Amino acid sequence: MSIVAIVGRPNVGKSTLFNRLVGMRKAIVNDSAGTTRDRHYGTTDWCGREFSVIDTGGYAMGGEDIFEAEIRKQVVLAIEEADVILFLVEVSTGITDLDMVMADLLRRSSKKVILVVNKIDNNDQIYSSHEFYALGLGDPYCISAMSGSGTGEVMDAVIAALPEDAGAEQADDLPKFAVIGRPNVGKSSLTNALLDTERNIVTPVAGTTRDSILSRYNKFGMDFYLIDTAGLRKKAKVTEDLEFYSVLRSIRSIESSDVCILMLDATAGIEAQDLNIFNLVVRNKKGCVIVVNKWDLIEKESNTMKEFAEAIRRRIAPFSDVPIVFTSVPNKQRILDVLQTAMRVYYSRIRKIPTSALNEYLLPIIEETPPPSTKGKYIRIKYVTQLASPTPSFAFFVNLPQYIKEGYRRFLENKIRERWDFEGVPIQIFFRQK
Ligand code: GDP
Ligand code: GDP
Repeated sequence: MSIVAIVGRPNVGKSTLFNRLVGMRKAIVNDSAGTTRDRHYGTTDWCGREFSVIDTGGYAMGGEDIFEAEIRKQVVLAIEEADVILFLVEVSTGITDLDMVMADLLRRSSKKVILVVNKIDNNDQIYSSHEFYALGLGDPYCISAMSGSGTGEVMDAVIAALPEDAGAEQADDLPKFAVIGRPNVGKSSLTNALLDTERNIVTPVAGTTRDSILSRYNKFGMDFYLIDTAGLRKKAKVTEDLEFYSVLRSIRSIESSDVCILMLDATAGIEAQDLNIFNLVVRNKKGCVIVVNKWDLIEKESNTMKEFAEAIRRRIAPFSDVPIVFTSVPNKQRILDVLQTAMRVYYSRIRKIPTSALNEYLLPIIEETPPPSTKGKYIRIKYVTQLASPTPSFAFFVNLPQYIKEGYRRFLENKIRERWDFEGVPIQIFFRQK
């Protein structure tokens, strides 16, 4: 999927614009487990074209008095990673020094840049927008992110600027795994251990996006693609300290994968940044295997692994039904386990459960523990079926769907997980009127 990045100095209205663009999507209410709303990254569509939008400011450090150096890093990164850049300025301040700095960087890039002048709240201000021609980035688009006026034209311009959709990009139906995680956790080591040492790997084929390479792995009865971002990331090594960096890098890999192998560093435990990446996986409804790497560096007692796993599951709750594998790449410890687990998650994720089996199992459970009645209304679930979606989604047909509470949704999800192996697979549950 293509990525559109919104850049601009603090306070020009990036997050307001982001909310408006992403909010345009007629939201399929996403109430699947474990999804926390990330306010800075979302997908949207316009005229049938789907793409991701990132508010780079959301990952900025320091707030108002952000340093020029940080702004620079963000712009450089956006140029590297995004397909189209929305450069936001605001009309009331005119062109500021920071605007100039950013415009210089953007002009020198080969990426498509769309200049957007925000806070045009009335027609008179459109005249003031002319001064922004001086940025040397072409015609400014005038918008009010607040009211939404002008944003449709910006979306049209975005669509026109997006690269050809790599719709026919799928090489074939083989599973695609992505190795993701913070810098230094061991992603390249794992990827190299798998790919370099195995002679029968296979020529890289051009992947789903311009930037990702799929390497085919075919050994030990496993045949799949590994999305190899390891080589790509070297070029931006300097900016690795930014959370924004990991997030942006991860997004592309996550979006092109079926199952994500999320690596953690055992010596660091699970940190906020790991959780953010985990949440991206869940929000994209991808399968997940957590790999705790550098296990050789941990002093172990008999229960260490179990306690470690429990601590992780507490942090990733409510979606804690995720496999966890403990590895040491240099010792080649459990590396194949990682792949086998990823395979299992892949097959669980594409499994279709027959409607009859679902109802035979779930209706008696529902009869025994029905949804609590609300406002004196009696809530009846008639039947359940798995939808024909690419990831597991279940629809329960109900007389009064609006009265079903989150707790009951979770109860049903847990029951499904008890009966069928959906370890590492986000599942969605919908309640529909019957
Ligand atoms: P960011 O720091 O670039 O993400 O900027 P925000 O989206 O947080 O917006 C900064 C301020 O500008 C907020 O107080 C917004 O309400 C305000 N703002 C955003 N868009 C508009 C607009 O179109 N018109 C006006 N008048 N204010 C706006
Ligand atoms: P990446 O940034 O996530 O790709 O991480 P790298 O693969 O570059 O690894 C970062 C550092 O950790 C390197 O010095 C590796 O040699 C080291 N490393 C990777 N895996 C392990 C492991 O399982 N145990 C130990 N002790 N070191 C590891």
